[in-house]
Amino acid sequence: MAWRRGRGQFKFAAAVWFIAAVRGLCVPGMIGKAGQERAGRGVRVQMDAAVRRRLIRAVAEAEIAHAEELTALDQAIGDGDHGINMQRGCAAVLADLDRIAALDLPPALHAVGLALVTKVGGASGPLFGTLFMQLGKTLPAQPTLAEATAALAAAIEAVKARGRSDVGAKTMLDVLVPVLDALRVGGDDLRTRLPAAADAACAATAPMQARRGRAAFLGARSIGHVDPGARSVAVMVRALCEA
Ligand code: ADP
Ligand code: MG
Repeated sequence: MAWRRGRGQFKFAAAVWFIAAVRGLCVPGMIGKAGQERAGRGVRVQMDAAVRRRLIRAVAEAEIAHAEELTALDQAIGDGDHGINMQRGCAAVLADLDRIAALDLPPALHAVGLALVTKVGGASGPLFGTLFMQLGKTLPAQPTLAEATAALAAAIEAVKARGRSDVGAKTMLDVLVPVLDALRVGGDDLRTRLPAAADAACAATAPMQARRGRAAFLGARSIGHVDPGARSVAVMVRALCEA
């Protein structure tokens, strides 16, 4: 009797292990190249240190690669420091990448946010810092797509509260919110649809008049230029999806 029960337990454990192993192999990342097509709303992402490292590094390096463009955008409607600000913050993230990637996803995101708050400065430092730190607070270590969507929604609310802003004011929120909307729709082609939605939303900031941030001081003269913070978000989203 004891032997039979033991064998049953073994079979059950083996079945659980097999299902877990297959899921782990199939879903190593949620919206990166690896496995995103198979990641349904209820599937938990198996995010190990190598995946975290690849994603964080891709985002930070993309921001650094676009520093000149971001600065040029900020020269048109701000004080010309956005690219330099983000470059400084992202360089700090890369310098600490080994330690950050070894952390579980929530503390890793918190560490990224903290580096941005500390190093970026300007208006965007605390706002991007809030975004990442709030994501770290809300996301579980191995989130489902539904949990990731809810976490981004909460993080965007935190950015709105921190900046006392909302969509339509010609800021980073004008890309963050359309990206969230695209994420809510879901689907197998998120990896291509998210960057496309971000790019379109970024371009759509050009005809807006700025109501928040330095650009708001320009009034109607802010019309006709893409918002630098909005462009930063689009760069991050593409890097994340193509990593
Ligand atoms: P600063 O304006 O202090 O020089 P940056 O140049 O680094 O800071 O960042 C400017 C970007 O920050 C803007 O393009 C805009 O997207 C974003 N931003 C500024 N103020 C706000 C706000 N209140 N809410 C949301 N985003 C904002
Ligand atoms: Mg600036």
